[in-house]
Amino acid sequence: MAVPKRKTSPSKRGMRRSHDSLIAASFQECPNCGELKRPHHMCLNCGYYNGREVVALEA
Ligand SMILES: [Zn+2]
Repeated sequence: MAVPKRKTSPSKRGMRRSHDSLIAASFQECPNCGELKRPHHMCLNCGYYNGREVVALEA
């Protein structure tokens, strides 16, 4: 079985992990219903996007 020749140094480990951070999802208020929605996504509460209803949601 192939095995690493040397232990990964703290520096190299840190370099690898520098891209691992999670970013919090952003939210904006829906202009139609005021609920929070994700930018560039249709509103999950009312089904509107860009000022018109794109998906009819029951309720
Ligand atoms: Zn909405």
